[in-house]
Amino acid sequence: MEEQKAKVVIIGSGPSGYTAGIYASRANLSPILFEGLQPGGQLTQTTDVENFPGYPEGIQGMEMMEQLKAQAQRFGTEFRPKVVTAVDLSKRPFAVEDEDGNTIFAETLIISTGATAKYLGLPDEDKYRGMGVSACATCDGFFYRKKSVAVVGGGDTACEEALYLSTLAKKVYMIVRKDYLRASDVMRRRVAERENIEVLFNTNTVNLFGEDGVEGATLVRHLGSDKEEVFTIEIDGFFLAIGHKPNTDFLRGQLELDSEGYIKTFGGTTATSVEGVFAAGDVADPIYRQAITAAGTGCRAALDAERFLMEHGEDE
Ligand code: NDP
Repeated sequence: MEEQKAKVVIIGSGPSGYTAGIYASRANLSPILFEGLQPGGQLTQTTDVENFPGYPEGIQGMEMMEQLKAQAQRFGTEFRPKVVTAVDLSKRPFAVEDEDGNTIFAETLIISTGATAKYLGLPDEDKYRGMGVSACATCDGFFYRKKSVAVVGGGDTACEEALYLSTLAKKVYMIVRKDYLRASDVMRRRVAERENIEVLFNTNTVNLFGEDGVEGATLVRHLGSDKEEVFTIEIDGFFLAIGHKPNTDFLRGQLELDSEGYIKTFGGTTATSVEGVFAAGDVADPIYRQAITAAGTGCRAALDAERFLMEHGEDE
């Protein structure tokens, strides 16, 4: 097993990780960046990104991430296409171990591991995973051309997924538990204008059914009220778009997390409860969760790490 030292190790490769790489490498800190299971992060699963400044016509999520990576590479960020399985934050330098058992001792650590899609917790989601259940319309939408699908959720992600699926599928249901869509105005309007999207308000999912894959869902309207009504819809695909969970399980017990598992930062900076460890992007952001805010915190984390190294020196 190899052992190596680094001034800055970045865990995670979304907009925050890559931006931290750009800044840290331009500051001559020779960062090593672990790309994890999904290099490029959540945006590689989306289609058009229309709200990142600098792209007046929009850009594909995958292409934008490739450009950010190339920019970080240009200044010397070293990439590891590996998953970090364990960290020891009890003393500096911090030990960062990857899936092959190799360890890097890091003077500073930037955690930008992002967040992962949530599921409802129904046993049928596991039963039909990969057989009609998905949390990524752009990954799996193609399989549902001219079929019927449902998207669960009423936020921007759900609307985006429903709109994308409506270009492929014959019919798209949105299953929304409240009586309104929480999504932004522009998204709500686009959904309302799309003829093959039907929004089912005040509706929850009871179960999924089907022989060799999803063939339908049992739903309940006005759950728990005297207007409660159980009904079924025929669908071939069931897409979850109900938010995300921060990827912090590998950190539990090592630094302070909030009740939902997001990393706590302090003093208006990216500093965490452990000196020398910084957090950037969705992993520390339950509120904004945008590519541009993630990139912004990636920049801040690299500047915070650089300042920390200047003040504390290297432990060599
Ligand atoms: P949100 O948290 O905004 O929305 C989650 C949706 O899922 C809500 O409608 C919520 O319902 C519903 N939901 C949550 N749990 C359950 C459950 N157990 N059963 C049924 N429904 C459930 O998440 P998003 O992923 O949509 O968005 C996250 C952030 O990213 C937001 O700030 C959003 O604006 C942003 N975003 C922006 C985009 C863009 O601008 N292009 C694209 C995608 C995301 P309820 O309302 O009842 O809580």
